Amino acid sequence: MFDRLQDQPADKILALMQAFKADPREDKIDLGVGVYRNAEGVTPVMRAVKEAERRLVETQETKAYTGLAGDPAFADAMIGLILGETVARDRIAAIATPGGTGACRQGFELARLANPDATVWCSDPTWPNHLSILKFMGMPTRTYRYFDEATALVDFDGMIADLEGVASGDIVLLHGCCHNPTGANLTDEQVGRVIAILTERGAVPMIDLAYQGFGDGLEADAAATRAIASAMPECLIAASCSKNFGVYRERTGLLMAISADASDTPTTQGNLNFLNRQTYSFPPDHGARVVTMILTDPDLRADWEAELEEVRSSMLDLRDQLAGELARLTNSDRYAFIARHRGMFSRLGLPSEVVERIRADHGVYMVGDSRMNIAGLNSETVPKLAQAIVAAEK
Ligand code: PMP
Repeated sequence: MFDRLQDQPADKILALMQAFKADPREDKIDLGVGVYRNAEGVTPVMRAVKEAERRLVETQETKAYTGLAGDPAFADAMIGLILGETVARDRIAAIATPGGTGACRQGFELARLANPDATVWCSDPTWPNHLSILKFMGMPTRTYRYFDEATALVDFDGMIADLEGVASGDIVLLHGCCHNPTGANLTDEQVGRVIAILTERGAVPMIDLAYQGFGDGLEADAAATRAIASAMPECLIAASCSKNFGVYRERTGLLMAISADASDTPTTQGNLNFLNRQTYSFPPDHGARVVTMILTDPDLRADWEAELEEVRSSMLDLRDQLAGELARLTNSDRYAFIARHRGMFSRLGLPSEVVERIRADHGVYMVGDSRMNIAGLNSETVPKLAQAIVAAEK
C-alpha cells in the first residue's frame, strides 16, 4: 500500500536549513528558521525554565494522566497572562495542546464541528502552516490582503475591502502580535476597525498568538487579543509558549474558545476535550507544568519577565542597527520599516532573485519571500547583511 503514496511538498524553511548546513562558507548567516538565538547564536534554556524544571524533578510525585484538557492550573495561568481580567472566566473553555500548532489545528477542528461550511480567512501572507493544515483538513479558505510590498507595512485599505466579503459564521484568522512572516502589525485604531467589520459581518475571530512578549512587551502584545476577545461575542485564541518561554520542543500551547454566553461553556469545553481525545488523548504536560510554575511563582515570574525583556530589547536593537546601517548605505529611508516592524521577522519585500543573489554571493540565508529572522543577526553580522542587501539590489 505504501507504494501508492505520493511525495509531499517539502517544507521550504526546513529545506533552507539543510542548504545552510551544507554551505561550507564560514561567514554564512542563517536568517531562516523561526527560533530565537542570542548574540552567540545559541537558543538558550531560559533561567526560570531551568529552575522550574529542577524543582519539578525534585517534587513531582506522579506522572499519572492529567485531564483531557490538561492541567486546569495551566489554562488559568495562561488565560491570566493573555487576557488578564478582560473576559469573564466562565465564558472561556480551554485545552492544553502540543504547541501553538496543535492549538491552531484544534481551533480549526472546533470551528468545523460547529459550522462545517465555515470559510477560514487568512492574511496574505500568513504562516504557511495555517494554509497547509487547512488544505489538509479540506476546509474552505480565502485570503485577505495584508501586506503592501511597496511600503513593507500593512495594506489596511486592501484588508478592509477584502474583509467586507466575509460571510456570517466565517472564521477570520488574525495574528495577535508580531505578524509572521511580515513583521507588520495593525495599530490599535486599525484593530478597532477590524472588530467593527467582524461584528457587522457576524464573523468569528481566531487569534494566533505565538510571540507575546517579543514585540512591544507582554501587556502591549496582548492588547489586540484583549480588545477583540472582549468586544466580540465569540472568539478562538491559539497560544504558543514555544517562543516566549523558549520551550519549543516541549510542545506547549493552549486553545481557548470563548462562548457568547457562560451557559454554552460546558458544551464548548466538552467538545474541546472530545477533540483532544480523538487525536492524542492527554496533551503533553511537562512544558505546561513548567510554564504554570513560572507564571504562579512571583520570583520565577519576575526572572522570566526580565529575561524575556532582554530578548525583546536585543531584537529591537538589531532592528535599529540594521535600519540605521541601510539608511547610511542607501542614503534613504527605504528600509526604515525594519525598525517599525515587530517580532522576530521582517519581510523585506525583495524579489526572489535578489534573495537568491544574497544567498549565492554572500551566504546569507533568508526565506525566499524575503522574510528574515532578526534574531539570526548580531552586531557583527548586521553591517555584513546591510552590505549584502545593497550589493544584491544593484
Ligand atoms: N503560529 C505562528 C504564527 C508561528 O509562527 C508559530 C511558530 N512558528 C506557531 C503558530 C506555532 O508554534 P509551535 O507549534 O512551535 O508552538
